[in-house]
Amino acid sequence: MEKKDIYAQANELEQHLGDIYKDIGEMKKKIVQLLEENKRLSLENQQLRSMLKTDQTDKDKIKEENPPSLVIGEGYDNLARLYYEGFHICNVYYGHLRTEGDCLFCLSFLNK
Ligand SMILES: [Zn+2]
Repeated sequence: MEKKDIYAQANELEQHLGDIYKDIGEMKKKIVQLLEENKRLSLENQQLRSMLKTDQTDKDKIKEENPPSLVIGEGYDNLARLYYEGFHICNVYYGHLRTEGDCLFCLSFLNK
């Protein structure tokens, strides 16, 4: 009788563990979604701020000539930073969290 109780307890525990694993899996999905959303919003915020700044600069008639190469350099730095913060910059998964380490698409893009 006691053996049967232990077996039933183990079964119950196994069921609980299964549920916990499922919950952790769901939680991880939500965390990824939140991190991606947070990054999207912070990039959008950054872009809006720089648009505001540009607008202000135009109004003040302080025109600084930006050579195109500098602009491209800045864009590259931003993308490189985004990648090293753990996000995809490739056109396949752009903006998604890199949950499995390095991405060959991103790396080939960075090395261009
Ligand atoms: Zn990628």
